[in-house]
Amino acid sequence: MPITRDGAVEWMTRFAGEMAEHRQELVALDTAIGDGDHGTNMNRGMQKVLEKLGSAEPADAGAVLKTVAMTLISTVGGAAGPLYGTLFLQMGNVLAGEADVDLAGFAAAWRKGLEGVQSRGKAELGDKTMVDALGPGVDALEQATDLDSGLNAAAQAAEQGMHATTPLVARKGRASYLGERSAGHQDPGATSTYYLFKSAAEALTD
Ligand code: ADP
Ligand code: MG
Repeated sequence: MPITRDGAVEWMTRFAGEMAEHRQELVALDTAIGDGDHGTNMNRGMQKVLEKLGSAEPADAGAVLKTVAMTLISTVGGAAGPLYGTLFLQMGNVLAGEADVDLAGFAAAWRKGLEGVQSRGKAELGDKTMVDALGPGVDALEQATDLDSGLNAAAQAAEQGMHATTPLVARKGRASYLGERSAGHQDPGATSTYYLFKSAAEALTD
C-alpha cells in the first residue's frame, strides 16, 4: 500500500506515542552525555505536533511533514529541534503534492532529509549523533524491493546504528564536550531516530 496523508498522520501519532513512552529513557541517556533535556524536548514538540495536525488538515503526506517541521522548529530548542525540523522539512518538500507515495518516493524523501540534517549539523557517520541511526535506515530503505520489507529493514538497521553509537566518542553536539568520557553511552538523538523508523514500520506496513 502506498503512503497517504492518513498514513503520515498515523506515523506521526505513533512517533509522538513513542516519545511520550520513552521520555524518561531519552532524558537518562541525555543526562549521561548531555544536559538531560532530549526526552522532554521531543515529547513536548511531538505533543504540539498532534495538536497542530488535529486542526490544520494538511492535504497530503508532504504537507503533514511540513507541518511537523514547522511545529518542531518553533517549539523545540536545543540541537534536536532544528535538526528534526530540517529532516521533516526536506522530506515534506520531496513529497509535496504526491497523493500516494511509493517505496522509491519515500526513500528519496528520507535521503533528502538526511542530507539536510548533515548540511545543517555537519555530522558524519561515526560522530555519535542521530546521523548514525538515520544513515543505515535510509540505506536499508533504498536497497529494499518493496515498501513493507523496506520499512522493517530500515527500523532494524536504525536500531543497530543506535546500538553502535555506544562505544563511540562524540565529535558533534554537546556530548563532544566530554571527549573520551562520552564513550560507553548510547546517543540520545540516535535513539529517538530509531523510534522514528520503528513508528514508520508500525504505521505504514500492511
Ligand atoms: P541539546 O544537545 O541542544 O541539548 P538535544 O538534547 O535535544 O539537544 O539533542 C541531542 C542530540 O542531538 C544528540 O544526542 C545528537 O544525536 C543530536 N545532535 C547534536 N548535535 C548534532 C549535529 N551537529 N548533527 C547531528 N545530530 C546532532
Ligand atoms: Mg540535550
